[in-house]
Amino acid sequence: MIKRGIMLCLGLSGLCSTNACASVAYMEKAGQPPREYQEWLKDLQEEMHDKGISTATLGKAFAKNYYHPKHKVVEKDRNQAEFIMSSTEYLNRLVNRQRVEKGKQKYKEIRSHYQKVEKDYGVPLNYLVAFWGMETNYGKSFGNHEVIEALTVLSYDNRRPQFFRNELYQALKIIDNGNITVEGMEGSWAGAMGHFQFMPSTYNAYAVDYDKDGKIDIWNNYGDAIASAANYLQSIGWKRGEPWGMEVTLPWNFDYTKSGREIKKSIKDWEKSGVRKNNGKKLGLNAELKGSIIVPEGYKGQAYLVLDNFDKIMQWNKSENYALGVSLLADYVKSGKAWQARQNKSQKEKISNEDILELQKFINQHKIAQITEDGQLGSKTRTAIKKLQKKAGFPADGYPSIRLINKIKNFDEKIGFSVPLQPQKPHRKPNKTRSEIKKK
Ligand code: CA
Repeated sequence: MIKRGIMLCLGLSGLCSTNACASVAYMEKAGQPPREYQEWLKDLQEEMHDKGISTATLGKAFAKNYYHPKHKVVEKDRNQAEFIMSSTEYLNRLVNRQRVEKGKQKYKEIRSHYQKVEKDYGVPLNYLVAFWGMETNYGKSFGNHEVIEALTVLSYDNRRPQFFRNELYQALKIIDNGNITVEGMEGSWAGAMGHFQFMPSTYNAYAVDYDKDGKIDIWNNYGDAIASAANYLQSIGWKRGEPWGMEVTLPWNFDYTKSGREIKKSIKDWEKSGVRKNNGKKLGLNAELKGSIIVPEGYKGQAYLVLDNFDKIMQWNKSENYALGVSLLADYVKSGKAWQARQNKSQKEKISNEDILELQKFINQHKIAQITEDGQLGSKTRTAIKKLQKKAGFPADGYPSIRLINKIKNFDEKIGFSVPLQPQKPHRKPNKTRSEIKKK
């Protein structure tokens, strides 16, 4: 029995004597934070006070004990998605039937009340409704965390302490200025707050008092919240009167090395190279506007033409899929069109972060490019994958297909890529033109 007791103890907290184990268990039970944390907290409060946060605010903010050996916000911070969701999968999940229908209804509700926001900031209300839907499901979920607690715990954690310590300071400033109480400052586990999930630093830089009552309340006052979101977008350069872009079809012989957000060409040039609306018609945009072609699922998937405002959406959240989600939802909300599930045109492949990491290692080892080995599919990795695809005789669309991953797994250092797996074929058969059909 004694033996079993010791084993349990080892399992719980690593190598320790039974006495030490007992004391750890006692502290966890009593919620008594360790001395190290208490000293850290004292130092933190001194720093915040030196930066100008009042003693009264600090007293309220740190009245409760936030220490827990396995705090849930730290666990959330550690949680990494195992597989990278495909663009279609992501869009079907985030821009689903309920969200689209509710978005149309919310748009109708707010349209007459907040025309002035659209006029003052130049950001159309349908985009603001779309951000609202993506961020908090139209104000339904702010995240259920007290922001001060979450940011304190994440500042103490070792992963990104400086980033969160600054956000914590920004959050204390908001409370110190009398905008909200400690308990009322509700947000996500990472400290994103209110209807549009503003980080405290974003709030202090961009949030506005729309109804001029002396408080900027992005939690309970919808006017303050939506005007703050519009002000943020205007401040980072949202272009009044311009759309995000559109879904397009590409010609069968499209040069995929020209895809990617870093390559911008005029609408005139894209039209010349055969880019058309999904319905086959001309793009119908100002010929001098500049945009990029993106293919989030490679040459087999859906293509999009994206303009400058798409880049602004990506400044809000740097995920390309998120930006597509906002864009498509904004289109639904404005047009009132019925929701449709998106068809997965590409293969149903599950690409993991491990796969991306393997590609990145291969690219660096073979000096195809110099990129960070982080398992993330950023724009530099996509560009490097294009180069790798060219060498390997694949369509250079920057998409890490399973076939490409298998190719590098079976790579022979002696033979290299001199013999492509299969000769490159045209990716799509050309559509018959009207005159060709008529001739028949
Ligand atoms: Ca206000």
